[in-house]
Amino acid sequence: MALNFEKEKLISELRERKPKKVLVQLAEGIKQNAPEISEWIEGLGIECIFSGETCWGACSVAVQEAQALGVDLIVHFGHAEFIKVNFPVLYIEVQDVLDLKPLLNKSLGALKNYNKIGLSYSIQHRHDIENIKKFYEEEGKQVMLSKKAGTNAYEGHITGCEYRGLKAIQDDVDCFVIIGNQFHSMGAVLAVKKPVILIDVYNDDVRSMAGLREKILKQRLFSIEKLKEAKNVGIIVEIKPGQKFGSPRKLLEKLRQHGKTAIVITMSELTPDKLMNFYNIDAFVELACPRIALDDFAKYPKPILTMREALVALGEDTWDNLLEKGFV
Ligand code: SF4
Repeated sequence: MALNFEKEKLISELRERKPKKVLVQLAEGIKQNAPEISEWIEGLGIECIFSGETCWGACSVAVQEAQALGVDLIVHFGHAEFIKVNFPVLYIEVQDVLDLKPLLNKSLGALKNYNKIGLSYSIQHRHDIENIKKFYEEEGKQVMLSKKAGTNAYEGHITGCEYRGLKAIQDDVDCFVIIGNQFHSMGAVLAVKKPVILIDVYNDDVRSMAGLREKILKQRLFSIEKLKEAKNVGIIVEIKPGQKFGSPRKLLEKLRQHGKTAIVITMSELTPDKLMNFYNIDAFVELACPRIALDDFAKYPKPILTMREALVALGEDTWDNLLEKGFV
């Protein structure tokens, strides 16, 4: 696999904006490319500092780091713009340059009973999407890209916490095909009612997400039951600008109204070790990235829920409604 870092766009934008010092954020899969990116930027006479903090999505724009370091600009590689922040940011998308034809051919078996395909992609595959669409159309399929909705930057674009664009077309398609990895397709299978087929470009595989959906739903029901029983609850908020999935104060009040003791805990990034010493807390509700609760069930010894799930546990919403709305 080769990566295209939009070097020309980077250089021309930097020449135009003329920053003296930049903070560079690299998505997790491309941190190893820091030395060559440093050469490009420093080659323009611009001081360049790399953020070593995790960067799972464009929700993690490092505004606080940038302000602390006194840089003029954040250069954020590997994601499309997700939210507006009060700091100059240059987004550089990174393309995975791959030959997808063998995987697309392989997917035809999984798609043989479906004529109308809803198509979505993670951002690294945007440059390929018209060819992918054409491939399926030449195979006799009708193809619709998911809508551009919410925080997604483009038609067909998918992120781990924004599925409204898929929901908008689900009545018009027989199934969804996701070009990317398990992370995005798992979110999709929890959000839509139609079958989801993943073209897993990183594991050279095509698979249905149906079995995974059933497994995750059981875990979510278990966590909801645990929150019902919990006496002490921790509400976790993160300081990343794009990770505000609910009001901690409102949730705190609701939990207290239901006879629970509740506290709000802030952190830069939720990890299991940070919760260890809160050992008298029975369950946590996290208002940061909803995918932590949904994906990392096995990593945490205590139940972790999303805001929507917490409302179900408190009897303020129903499980059926949660399934209808989706988990994120
Ligand atoms: S909140 Fe989570 S799923 Fe959404 S963009 Fe950020 S890391 Fe991805």
